[in-house]
Formats: sequence, C-alpha cells, structure tokens
Amino acid sequence: MEEPTLASRYEQVKASLPEHVKLIAVSKTRSVEEIKALYDLGQRAFGENYPQEMQAKQPLLPNDIEWHFIGHLQSNKVKTITPFVHLVHGVDRTSLLDELDKRARSANRVIGVLLQVHIAEEETKHGFAASELRASLVTPGIAERWPSLHFRGLMGMATNTDDRTRTALEFQGLTTLLHYLQAANPFPNAGFRELSMGMSNDADLAIAAGSTMVRIGSAIFGARA
Ligand SMILES: *Cc1c(COP(=O)(O)O)cnc(C)c1O
Repeated sequence: MEEPTLASRYEQVKASLPEHVKLIAVSKTRSVEEIKALYDLGQRAFGENYPQEMQAKQPLLPNDIEWHFIGHLQSNKVKTITPFVHLVHGVDRTSLLDELDKRARSANRVIGVLLQVHIAEEETKHGFAASELRASLVTPGIAERWPSLHFRGLMGMATNTDDRTRTALEFQGLTTLLHYLQAANPFPNAGFRELSMGMSNDADLAIAAGSTMVRIGSAIFGARA
C-alpha cells in the first residue's frame, strides 16, 4: 500500500473535526519545510513543545502563523516566546502566570493562556489540581492580578492508556471543571471557554466530551522519529 501523503492525512483529520473545534497542528521535531508544506495546504495554527525550537522556527515561516506553546514551560524560557506566542496551553503554576504577565507587559502584548489541569493518573504529567483551581481562582480580583494575560480556558492531557472509558471520564472531568469556573466567572471579560484536549489517539473522545481545540501531530505528519 502507498504511504498516505501529507495532504491526504491533513484532509482526513480535518474531516473528522466538527466546525467549532480548532485544529492545532503539533509540529514539534518537524522541519520548517514540513511546516511550510502544511501551511500551503491552509493550516495556520501550529503547536510547539520546546521554546528554543519554536523561537528558531518562527522567523523562518510566514507571519500569519498562530504559534501555540503546548509544552511544559520553564520560567527562564518565557521571554523567548512572549514576543510572538498566540496562546500558551500548559500554564501549570502561579509563578509561571507571574512571569508570563511580566514578560507580556514588557513586550507590550496581551497573551492568551490556558490553565493546565492535572486530569491523568500519572504523577509525571503537569497541571493544577482541580480542587486548587476551584479554591483559588474563584477569588474576587483574581483577573486583575495578571493584567497582561487573557485567560481563555483549560487544557488537559489524559492518562496514556488503552482504557477509553477512563480517558473519556478524564476529559468529562475537565469539561465539568470549566463549567464550574464559568459559573463562578472569575474572568468576566476574557471569554473563558476554551478546552484544549485531545491528541491523535484520543481526539474523538475529547470532542465528544466538549473539546474546542485538539492538538494533533502524528495523525497529520506521520509518526515522529
Ligand atoms: C506531542 C503532543 C501532542 C501531539 O501528539 P500526537 O500524538 O502526535 O498527536 C499534543 N499535545 C501535547 C502536549 C504534546 O506534547
């Protein structure tokens, strides 16, 4: 059988997404040429995991690309991405909000953030505990604490498992938390409504649970080396 082309994989992924779900093409480890090829097929939102890699690629690619940072971000790397990043998906601690806010302000920008929630079984995965967000975000004046950040929603990564029921439950838990926080309305002007959940192997479950953004790499570009 012939290898599917980039174009055919991309079309297949897009065809599987409802209109309201945004596709973030995860381009970590992919070359500038591969990213440009997908850009030429119409894709504009790309996700990267490593600050230096994203910083190196950005100036070599068209200006209208929307860069999403989806990895674990160290505070000392924040300034490498704040001049151009569109949305930071994996914000998992208050000290990182402080640093992002400070660097966004010095770049004269307002930067979108998603709060990462720990929904998986694995201890190695990052994120706020749901209970922590419930307790700490629903405090008066919380949005004013980081004026250069735009709180747009939540992000989560499910347990790496073949147990699809478990994955579905973890995604549904993130949706429930979003609804709880929306009702408390800590960010009245931010449109706090995005749910970044779902990757190549579990996007269908994430979408069924209410995802608004899927982060898909290998289903588009092929398996990573
Ligand atoms: C690599 C990565 C993805 C994409 O994974 P695929 O299995 O290639 O679709 C999505 N989200 C995060 C946070 C990642 O690190």
